[in-house]
Amino acid sequence: MQIKGLSATGIKDFLQCKLKAFFRYDRDIPSIKNDNMKIGTAVHEALEKFTIRMQEKKSFPDDTDYEYAINVFMDTATDQGLESMEFYEDGRIMVSEFIDRYNPAEEVVSVEGFFEIEIDGIPLRGAIDKVVKINDDTIAIIDYKTARNALTTWELKDDIQLSTYDLAASIMWPEFKNRILILEYVRINKQVETYRTEEDREKFKGFLSSMWEKMKNLTEEDATASYNKFCGWCDYSSYCPKYASLVSDRLVLPSASELSDGEFLDQWEELSAKKSMIDARQREMKMMASQRFMNGDSISGNGKELYSTQASRTNYDVSKVARVIPQEDLFPLLAVNKGRIDRYVKDYPDLKISLDRIAEVNYNAPVYRTRATREDEDAEPVPTQQDENAA
Ligand code: SF4
Repeated sequence: MQIKGLSATGIKDFLQCKLKAFFRYDRDIPSIKNDNMKIGTAVHEALEKFTIRMQEKKSFPDDTDYEYAINVFMDTATDQGLESMEFYEDGRIMVSEFIDRYNPAEEVVSVEGFFEIEIDGIPLRGAIDKVVKINDDTIAIIDYKTARNALTTWELKDDIQLSTYDLAASIMWPEFKNRILILEYVRINKQVETYRTEEDREKFKGFLSSMWEKMKNLTEEDATASYNKFCGWCDYSSYCPKYASLVSDRLVLPSASELSDGEFLDQWEELSAKKSMIDARQREMKMMASQRFMNGDSISGNGKELYSTQASRTNYDVSKVARVIPQEDLFPLLAVNKGRIDRYVKDYPDLKISLDRIAEVNYNAPVYRTRATREDEDAEPVPTQQDENAA
């Protein structure tokens, strides 16, 4: 396979599916971005430009800074062709809330630093969103994520992207002995941290060298398709025979209680992969239907036609409701918005402890995922489940 350099994304692609890597790097087929990827790109651009601007201003942000960053987001999102209005609103909120949390005392070492460095003859490439100096010995390497769910510290232990950043930063900023690796989830205001030891770094170099050889030596015959939980978001699904056959295959479902644990997990992963493919296909068809309806077309055939219904959502302005409903009945009817409380507390930090004391935490239904077990630690690292669409 023809590859110009090694990147965390390239390695993850290769480990997920050799055919996908072959399409992307050898055939050089451009990837098609979905709305999740477009919003990720636009938010990254806004945060980067905002941080550069604030480095020059060295002050707390004012209204013009919010306006500037949101304009960058909007311009990039429209350039990217983001279609969903809901995503535009999401992006504006993410950018505004990021600015709310901005700390002008932060000592930024680098913003969106693209790097291409040679390590033991391997050209390693990537881009680090932000590097911040913590003290004379330590930097924090920050990667922004727009995903809704954060990975855990344990899941970051083998994260290929963070290991790549750690290695690159050890060469680019050798004056800092310690590197904290942080995923900053801007949508949910959460940071997850990890680090690498000298031993981890040496092991990772060995891993890179083996991946470089494997990827360079991949032939077209060996570039086989392996379905995985990211197939539904794969940019090359329309070229992929496995995708076509999986979507059209009939599901054979033996009784779940008769499955061994291994069969149970295999079927769990197979169903997840198929579901994500089918969801992605349905999203694509919905977008197409909505486009055709907007153009005044109808979709009919085989004795059926597509039609749309639209649920309405009614909102009330609290101040107006308070004028109508007696105060003694009002409180049970109101809900407090956590995001707004968090923003309010930024301005009145003395209230935080009292609010934390009265906060009621409820948990959603558990989400089940599969992962490699600890006994498999010597096996090739499996990419952790990041939001692929969130840069
Ligand atoms: S759809 Fe799945 S199996 Fe096909 S190329 Fe993409 S990742 Fe590979």
